[in-house]
Amino acid sequence: MKTRAEVADYTSQAKLAIVYGCKQCAGRDPNCACREMLRVETEAYEACVPRDFWKITPDDIHHNRKGFDEVVRPYCDKLRVARAKGYGLLLLGDNGVGKTTFMSYVLTRAISIGFTAFYTTLPQLDYEMKRGFRDSEAASRLREMLTSDFLALDEMGKESFKDGDSYMRTQVERVLKDRYDDGMPTVIATNASVSGLKKIYGATLASLLVGKYQIVVLQSGDYRKQMREQMEKDLGL
Ligand SMILES: [Zn+2]
Repeated sequence: MKTRAEVADYTSQAKLAIVYGCKQCAGRDPNCACREMLRVETEAYEACVPRDFWKITPDDIHHNRKGFDEVVRPYCDKLRVARAKGYGLLLLGDNGVGKTTFMSYVLTRAISIGFTAFYTTLPQLDYEMKRGFRDSEAASRLREMLTSDFLALDEMGKESFKDGDSYMRTQVERVLKDRYDDGMPTVIATNASVSGLKKIYGATLASLLVGKYQIVVLQSGDYRKQMREQMEKDLGL
């Protein structure tokens, strides 16, 4: 989560680089595309979308292209409907199969058409919530971010929450229930299965997932092999 001060700081730096450094207008044309670029970039920063994925386009998606073309892309074409009806996505698959890439794509698309967004992982959310115990400003900022138009929760069902941490389970359930009740879409990614999630978080949460989440199953395939080949090519090995 970024504080307001961090966002303001980032915005003024990005304005120097993107707007005043614009080759087209050097900051002189308020209608130049650089202004929109600045808006999207600073909102992606505030939304905590991982920076590597800010400029992702469909051409960058090579692995699990089928799931992307059949579900993620059509979903992104209907973001206004998804927002109005609270339809979310549930991305299932091992680590490193592209879940974060897909989520980031959804969030940057949402930001580009004017929606607010927030990306977080379960360990990060755990940290932010506990920080909120002693910092009321952080707590209210987190509440605000969690009510963004589109929320992405990555690493659901992470090992550390399997045993004992009932506080976090309750909080996650509350966030998802509130969004469900308010008709707000959430994008969830996990390396657990739906029944695995049910085991970790209980039946209430599992029931929230039925009917309002489009499920995308991502294949492990030879993604890591492809990555290694690319790395070897890049390094000239
Ligand atoms: Zn410009």
